Amino acid sequence: MATIRKLNKRKHIAMVAHDHKKKDLIDWAEYNKAALARHDLLATGTTGRMLEDQLDRPVKKLLSGPLGGDQQIGSLIAEGKVDMLIFFWDPMEAQPHDPDIRALLRVAVTWNIPIACDRATADFILTSPLMHDDYECQIPDYSEYVKRKV
Ligand code: PGA
Repeated sequence: MATIRKLNKRKHIAMVAHDHKKKDLIDWAEYNKAALARHDLLATGTTGRMLEDQLDRPVKKLLSGPLGGDQQIGSLIAEGKVDMLIFFWDPMEAQPHDPDIRALLRVAVTWNIPIACDRATADFILTSPLMHDDYECQIPDYSEYVKRKV
């Protein structure tokens, strides 16, 4: 049976953008400044610094992505401290931390976190009525896996 993690009205939104996608994310965040003001933001280092400058509000900044920031966000997701992920990754350029990117996307799916990897999906998520309310997020049941005989 799935367990429930309650997401509050005020959500913890993690943001990451690769270098060629940063402008896109900053534009999107500026356009949605009022909606984002109702939530707490955290981001990888450079993305977070740019968001803070643009939005003129605090953003919790982790390490830069290639220096471990993606893994930090993954760890916070596993701990239930991140409610959704806006991750504008670049499909046109290989990244030095490709394994970390895969790991972040995997852990987000493992814990049933909404993920937007492009601007259109980010628009749909941010305009969802579920953003304005508490939400019961169903976590898949991993108890059999945890208890498995090895
Ligand atoms: P950055 O990291 O925000 O520190 O540039 C993003 C990334 O994962 O490449």
